[in-house]
Formats: sequence, structure tokens, C-alpha cells
Amino acid sequence: MSDDHTRERAAPTPGNSPAAKDVRYLLHPYTNAVKHAERGPLIMERGKGVWVTDDAGKRYIEGMAGLWCTSLGFGEERLIEAAVRQMRDLPYYHLFAHKSHNPAIELAERLIEMAPHSADGPMDKVFYGNSGSEANDTAIKLIWYYNNARGRPEKRKILSRIQGYHGVTVATASLTGLPANHKDFNLPIADILHTGSPHHYFQAEEGESEEDFATRRAEELDQMIEAEGPETVAAMFAEPVMGAGGVIVPPATYFEKIQKVLKKHDVLLLADEVICGFGRTGNMFGCETFGIKPDMVSVAKALSSAYLPISATMISKEIADTVAANSGKIGTFGHGYTYSGHPVAAAVAVETLKIYEERDMIGHVRTVAPAMQNGLRERFAGHPLVGEVRGVGLIGAVQLVADKETREPFEAAQGVALKCADFAHEHGLVVRPLPGDAVAFSPPLVISEEEIDEMLDRFARALDDTAAWLAKAAA
Ligand code: PMP
Repeated sequence: MSDDHTRERAAPTPGNSPAAKDVRYLLHPYTNAVKHAERGPLIMERGKGVWVTDDAGKRYIEGMAGLWCTSLGFGEERLIEAAVRQMRDLPYYHLFAHKSHNPAIELAERLIEMAPHSADGPMDKVFYGNSGSEANDTAIKLIWYYNNARGRPEKRKILSRIQGYHGVTVATASLTGLPANHKDFNLPIADILHTGSPHHYFQAEEGESEEDFATRRAEELDQMIEAEGPETVAAMFAEPVMGAGGVIVPPATYFEKIQKVLKKHDVLLLADEVICGFGRTGNMFGCETFGIKPDMVSVAKALSSAYLPISATMISKEIADTVAANSGKIGTFGHGYTYSGHPVAAAVAVETLKIYEERDMIGHVRTVAPAMQNGLRERFAGHPLVGEVRGVGLIGAVQLVADKETREPFEAAQGVALKCADFAHEHGLVVRPLPGDAVAFSPPLVISEEEIDEMLDRFARALDDTAAWLAKAAA
């Protein structure tokens, strides 16, 4: 590669700065690569508590806990020490072919003890992965394996919801109900069905109550399963609160009605607790907040406070027993990742769960959540750009709209939420723009009321800057 060529691609930052090298060498996840070459990266260097510091020394409140995940904030020494200890003792071992190690065993026991229950009792077995995508991908394979074992191979279609987010592997991106995850990837694959999103604000009909809207969504689900043939529909995946699709809190009675339909047709329910799990909604799991009795549960992110990658798929006794018997018949359960239950990640996860318990993290979330939920509503619901403020516990979103009365959204091409997030960055706050121009908040669970106030102060400035920017563009 000639020097000239290198320079040309390293815009906007010439030379060998980290920013220039970033642009030259990295393909970023979820990033417009053309824009990235123009604007370059925001490089973070360190973090402490809810604060992160970039390479210019500027401090930000991490209003998103990274990607909804660093629940205990940055610089938690106990997690660092747990990793170092495990690195010394046994930095790697696997779980294939009857091998095991104590961190994986201890974590599995803790997870089963705390996990949401199915209608028939507690979860029975844990299978480890490294990401939320892998946990859900594993779940899809388990569902197929289970139904094949039960002699009903045609029962294989998997349902999810428009705006749902379940990952980016070939199968889980297919379940994810967002256009950007399908376009030009040859997705979704076959046997995936998408049913309507539970977003009352945008999708309810004129005057339709939350309950009536929930009834309508459940009836649509029932009709879809009937039309496909219940003998072909295996499972539904659902996040208790939809995260990346817009922080959509289910309308009253929604899960009660959805679960009735699934039960009627013998369709399994997987609760995707990748964001909601471990306190985010004010209970240990979103399932508790919304009365969900799942057959399978996936967790990741806050499982290790994101200090190391680890995820888990938990399954009911009925599924576990059937899968186990089938592995006996075939000779093995032919699935597993090199790093399934990686001992260092598992040790950090065990320590994370201990900290949640010792510090009563749920109690803390319940204490501080009103400052965020009420603060967001009191301060921003009346703002001319804000159509809806929604959320529960320490997850929330401010919905930006072009017209408050008619609920008309902005043109996607305007990138209003993205601009708002950029202004927030200028004011030292990291928030996340979501598709459909919502701005999400999901701070570390350890955030204090004072830090929540500071977060909202900074967001207020960003929102006013956004209004001024829009007014200027319209002038
Ligand atoms: N499920 C949900 C609900 C998620 O929010 C995410 C990630 N944001 C995933 C699955 C996928 O997790 P990962 O990015 O770790 O693969």
C-alpha cells in the first residue's frame, strides 16, 4: 500500500493518530462507514462509576451503560480481582465431552436459583454462550432439536415482533424485527414470522385503550398462528421491554393475553432478558415486572456487568429432559462454543451476581428509578419536540416527533435523534438514538439520584440545541 493511498483513506485525521488508524483499519458495527470516514471515531479511554473519559480528557455520563450492559459502572475492583484470580488459577477450560470447572458450575446454580419460573416450575438447565445473539441462536436450535425429538419436525416456525431485537447472527437477525438488520443481508431466513409491535403510542387506533390494543395484538397473534397452522409454529421470542427497537413498554394486560394465545396453540415462549435481566426494570427480571412465565430465558450483558462476554440460555425441565434424552439417542448434543462458560467470564459473572445480592441492587434501582422516570416526564413531556416519554425502572426513552398533536414522526433522513445524541455528547452525556427517533436512557444501575439529575440537565441542553438546529434548518 503506497503512502499516498494510506493518507487518502485516513481522512479526516492525517498521520498515524489512533483516530486515523481507526478509520483506516476498522469496520465498525452499526455505523455508517461513509460518515465515519468523514467524522472519525470518538475514542474512550477510561471509566469510573457512571463516568467515561475520552482521549481528549473530556468526561461524559454514560447514560446507556455502554450498550445497556455495564450495570455496576466502570472500575469495579471486585470484578477486576475476580478475573485476575481466575486467570491465575485456570484461564481457560471448556465444557465439552464431560469436562467442567467450578466457575461454570457455581454460576449455573446461581442462575437456576434466581431465574424466572415457567408455568411448570423453575428453569432446569443452563447453556452458556458469549453474547445475547448466541444465547438466542442456541435457543432456536434447542427448540428445533426439541420438536424433532418429539416427532414433530414441522413445528419449527419462530415468531417475534416487529421492532423486537434478538441479535445479529443469521437466525437471530432474522428474528430481529428491524429493517436495517435484514436489508441486503438476504434475511430473514425461512420459518420466521413477525407479529405486530406493542407500541401503543404509535400503533393504537384513535381512542383505543392500552387494554383494547393489547387484546387486538393478541387476536392478531392468534389469527397468524391459525393461518400458519399451529402444528407449524414452535415458539415466540419476546423482550419484556423492547430495548433497541425503541424502549417499548408493553401495554397493560399485553403479556397476559399473549401468553394465553401461545398456550392454546402449544407455542413455547422465550423471554429475551438480555437487557431487562438483573434489575433493569426494578425487579430481578422483566418477567417479574410483567407477569411472564417463559419456557426459556436468555441473559447476557448485566450477567457480568459486561466486564467479560458471557451469556446463558435457560430452559424448562420439559425441554431439558427431552433434549437430554435425544442426545442419548443421537450420541451427543452436537452444539457448543469453544468459549461456552469460559471460566474467567463465568467467575466475573458469579462475582457480579454476588454484588447484586450484597448491595441490594434491586432495592437501589427501586429507590433511584423515580428520579429518572419522573424527571424524564416532568422535564421533557411538555417539550415541543417530545411526543412521548416512556420507560420503567432504569430504562427509558424520549420520543421525538415532528408534530406533537398528530404524532407525525420526523423524516428518517433528517436523523433528528442522532443529532440530539451528538448534541448530548457535546454536553458530556452519552445517550443512544434509536430507530424512529427515540433517544434511549439506560444508565448503569449504580447511578445515584444526583447523577440522574445531572444526566437530565445535560439532556435538557441537548434537546434545546436540537430544537434550535431544527428551527434554523426550517428558516
Ligand atoms: N437480545 C436483546 C434484547 C438485546 O438487546 C441484544 C443486544 N442489544 C441482543 C439480544 C443481542 O446481544 P449481543 O449484542 O450480545 O449479541
